[in-house]
Amino acid sequence: MNKIISAVKKIESGNPDKDALLYLFSTNEDIDILFSAAYEVKERYVGKKVYLRGLIEFSNICKKNCYYCGIRRDNHKIKRYSMNKEEILESAIFAYKSGFGSIVLQSGERDDRDFINNLVEVIKEIKSITNNELGITLCVGEEKRDDYEKLFEAGAHRYLLRIETSNEDLYKKIHPEDHSFYNRVECIKMLKNIGYQTGTGVMIGLPFQTIDDLVSDIVFFVENDIDMIGMGPYIEHKDTPLFKYNSKFTLKERFELTLKMIAIMRILMKDINIASTTALQAIDPAGREKGILAGANVIMPNITPLKYREDYRLYENKPCINENSEDCKDCVLNRIKMIGESVALNSLGDPIHYYRRNKES
Ligand code: SF4
Repeated sequence: MNKIISAVKKIESGNPDKDALLYLFSTNEDIDILFSAAYEVKERYVGKKVYLRGLIEFSNICKKNCYYCGIRRDNHKIKRYSMNKEEILESAIFAYKSGFGSIVLQSGERDDRDFINNLVEVIKEIKSITNNELGITLCVGEEKRDDYEKLFEAGAHRYLLRIETSNEDLYKKIHPEDHSFYNRVECIKMLKNIGYQTGTGVMIGLPFQTIDDLVSDIVFFVENDIDMIGMGPYIEHKDTPLFKYNSKFTLKERFELTLKMIAIMRILMKDINIASTTALQAIDPAGREKGILAGANVIMPNITPLKYREDYRLYENKPCINENSEDCKDCVLNRIKMIGESVALNSLGDPIHYYRRNKES
């Protein structure tokens, strides 16, 4: 027990001490000490509340071909779709009226003019019909700086760009040759520099991935002083090239490692936002709640129209494919209440970290 207490104490100072992290990953004995410490930090710094972001998966068309992703360009088994403007606005209004403080507009990656211009228009319109009150997070991949700027000026103020792994060699193994690790890191820096509340994240339990890689991921988050994190266990998709390689971690282990990553990041970076991702729920029906109890403070209920959900399957067993937005909302509200937390309705839920780092810089 003393060992785990001392490992937790070491990281409480904000220093991602490698030995302490390796120890926390290596044991499950008395691991509740880690989770309790993380939950205390959560209560103190970001409160006993959860922010909601209505997730709108507005298009599954993607120019990229990541080896792990179910909507990669070369997966011809799925039907491609793009929601029209009215459908996106309708979903945004649903979020607004339901008291979700923010939405996430997520899609496959495209950089053609139509895509960017339409997105700019949609963002402007959402801001206008919601009295500028609905927060907008974008998750649409790597773009050019001036496009990031246009989207920011239109009213998007948060951006999620997952690095997936901070190990460049591993990155190369899970992406085709023309997908650049360097560019991805540069995009994250660019987003911060433009003024976005910037989020990133990794997959946990990828084939070829080691515990040392997870330690490096933690160091990456700290060094890049990010505002938001979305991490999930890697879950295979059978129609992807990575499917033939085995992870050395069972699903259960990937789940446990993800909870540990959440707890460690909460202790290390205290006032950032951390999402409890749907992939956790794909492994354990109470996965998202467990994520909150490990220190996460954001949940993203899926509010994509039902007819498109099936075709936005990034991994197998993705939950909430058949529940409509109203059901997803009720389910999330009930589940959060059940663990003694409250939902911060009608609140943007910006990461406190973002304001602190801007004040300090
Ligand atoms: S992970 Fe993102 S960029 Fe890669 S194929 Fe999937 S949607 Fe496209």
